[in-house]
Amino acid sequence: MRKCYKCDKKAQVYLPQHRLAFCKDHYLEWFDNRVEKTIKEFKMFDKNSKILVAVSGGKDSLSLWNALAKLGYNVDGFYINLGIGDYSQKSKELALKFAKKIGKTLNIVELKDEIATIPEMKTYDNRPACSICGTIKRYFMNKKAKELGYNIIATGHNLDDEAAVLFSNTLNWSIEYLKRQYPVLKEENGFIRKVKPLCKISEKESAIYAILSGIEYIEEECPYSVGATSIDYKLFLSQLEEKSPGTKLRFYSEFLRKMYPILQSYEEKVELGRCEICGEPSMNRICSYCSLKMKLQAKKEKTV
Ligand code: SF4
Ligand code: ZN
Ligand code: ZN
Repeated sequence: MRKCYKCDKKAQVYLPQHRLAFCKDHYLEWFDNRVEKTIKEFKMFDKNSKILVAVSGGKDSLSLWNALAKLGYNVDGFYINLGIGDYSQKSKELALKFAKKIGKTLNIVELKDEIATIPEMKTYDNRPACSICGTIKRYFMNKKAKELGYNIIATGHNLDDEAAVLFSNTLNWSIEYLKRQYPVLKEENGFIRKVKPLCKISEKESAIYAILSGIEYIEEECPYSVGATSIDYKLFLSQLEEKSPGTKLRFYSEFLRKMYPILQSYEEKVELGRCEICGEPSMNRICSYCSLKMKLQAKKEKTV
């Protein structure tokens, strides 16, 4: 029988990459401490910050919200109802239920009232759903957080997400993206600060935390995620991890330690201005969200 690293109880969780075993209570404590350590390591925010967690109803965002609230941060949630059938309905219910349980505010944006649902937009736009969705989420997160008076947006991206993106950007030598792959994107040019406090926590660790904390989360994946290349990269990295525990964490942490500082000397060509319609930051005269909205309106008018 494996014993907890901290007490005499039987261990319920074993973390091979850290060579640590914990009972339930000490695992939850380890997780919260790891989140706190990451926040401090990357100087993400402090107890005076007003934080908005982007909530999807999944295990990562709810675990993050739970941990930040437990650690005593001033943190509310932000949910965008994408209107993706049962998936969105169920995830919204779970996000609302969780907000009630921890006594925090969940700010909600209904996409159907702002522009159109993702499935509707798909009928007017040939781009992959995730590309449209990404534009929409980035836009509303930034805009609403500012309007509501928050100064930090925290997302539930975990180590598996970050390692998969890093792997993809490295395969393509996408220097512009690699240069921005840091768990803190500082506030500038109309963007508010974005942070990823779970960047050193694996998907498995966050799932165990959610289960042991009694968090009800949506287990189904979004129907549009099927076939995404990032899933192949995650699978590949997980196979490496299985053979050699610690691979993902090493890959990501060593990038941040050794490569990221070198990349900062790479000259940035991007110049950001403001969208002529909505005033949000944009590389072009009109931002991607407003162009999407205009395109959608034009196509709708044509079909009437
Ligand atoms: Fe949006 Fe794609 Fe994620 Fe679904 S899988 S929520 S469409 S980004
Ligand atoms: Zn213990
Ligand atoms: Zn705009």
